Amino acid sequence: MPSDETIAAISTPIGAGGIGIVRLSGERAVAIVDCIFKATSGKPLKNLLSHRLYHGIIVEPLTQEAIDQVLVSVMKAPRTYTREDVVEINCHGGPLVLRRVLELVLKSGARLAEPGEFTKRAFLNGRIDLAQAEAVCDLITAKTELGRKAAMEQLDGRLSSKIQALKDRVINLTAWIEAYIDFPEEDIELAAMEQFQAEAISVRQGINAILEHAREGRIIREGVKTAIIGRPNVGKSSLLNALLGQDRAIVTELPGTTRDIIEDSINIQGIPFRILDTAGIRESSNMVEIEGINRSLKAMQQADLILLVLDQSEPVHETETSILQNNQNIILVLNKVDLPTRLDKQAIPSTFTQVPVSSTQEKGIETLKQTMVNHVLGHGIEAGHLLVTNVRHIQALEQAAMSLEKFLNSLSQKSFPEFLALDLRDTLNALGDIVGVTTPEDILNRIFRDFCIGK
Ligand code: GDP
Repeated sequence: MPSDETIAAISTPIGAGGIGIVRLSGERAVAIVDCIFKATSGKPLKNLLSHRLYHGIIVEPLTQEAIDQVLVSVMKAPRTYTREDVVEINCHGGPLVLRRVLELVLKSGARLAEPGEFTKRAFLNGRIDLAQAEAVCDLITAKTELGRKAAMEQLDGRLSSKIQALKDRVINLTAWIEAYIDFPEEDIELAAMEQFQAEAISVRQGINAILEHAREGRIIREGVKTAIIGRPNVGKSSLLNALLGQDRAIVTELPGTTRDIIEDSINIQGIPFRILDTAGIRESSNMVEIEGINRSLKAMQQADLILLVLDQSEPVHETETSILQNNQNIILVLNKVDLPTRLDKQAIPSTFTQVPVSSTQEKGIETLKQTMVNHVLGHGIEAGHLLVTNVRHIQALEQAAMSLEKFLNSLSQKSFPEFLALDLRDTLNALGDIVGVTTPEDILNRIFRDFCIGK
């Protein structure tokens, strides 16, 4: 529902900058700025053309003190970000200037915007749907090129139009089923039942096709949790440093010195890897070290990818063979290739990818990075795939697939059409949640709360 309050906020980051923008949206945006803006042309904004920039000064209305020389853009509804009148005051970007201008705007009748309120209004006024609104936040916070691309596709409405197409098909199915509810004397004919079944299966396939790439999407958004594990002194911290390209972890010659998990992030070919360097794994009686080892084992369980580091200048240890027996997502990093080999390769199952490196001499590190990318993405992210990066969307799609499954079961058990219609309604609601048609108010509030102020 459109709001009659006019909102305002500083839309650029706080701190000194070339320009800073105070943005207003709402019915009174133009009138409010007219109270504090003197255009060089002498004309009030309300008499000027929309979608133009105007030069002038911001003045304190009571004292007539000049606060800043500015450019004001006027964008009259509906062709605006929020579909309301929007005015942006481009000030000189000092925090004091921006705060004074914002104060004047608030004194003249605007209300301070809540985080994400501009985008929330764009959603409530029907300019964008919820998935697109969420993409705005993802685009702003994108840390990698792939993340930016996925957010931009979502903002363009690629996910929304796919969801809409699936929704339309479920609506058609509902209409068919409801025809049987309206004429209770008629049983669902066999031919019609086969038709419903085929259509529901095909819609479910459509949902599953989107979900298939959800894992890649999650990885792009959250990063690949990568655990570097291995016995003390095999070179885990040195490997982390080599991967990060800086002296991030402490390296010592005493076994058992990396006791805390150090977490850092690196971006390899657009994919964020969140790397956990863990305490060395080995039998220990020292309490602090035991704690570190327990954390390593925990990190290993939570990891999407494990880099098991072996010192190839020493024989394979039984701790290492037991880790290999119990885990799948492992790349074997054979460290210290600059030293003579004493490792018996026969002791290692050939199913694991092995990468020889020297962490201290930075040899093999690029090959390791490429292997990490291949391991996560298989053959890479194929061009043209829609990537669902948002956990909320993934859960809604899973819910929709489940409800459709229930519909198919009910159909084969020849349930009453009323029950069939209920299952379809659940499917529709789950799909509607993604684009925001059926999303409850508290979830909407939570989504927009994560936005920055002024967006
Ligand atoms: P961690 O306990 O597994 O984290 O091992 P560190 O990274 O602290 O390394 C233990 C010792 O091995 C240090 O003296 C490192 O300089 C040394 N080291 C690590 N990587 C290599 C390597 O590739 N070649 C050689 N020669 N020494 C290495």
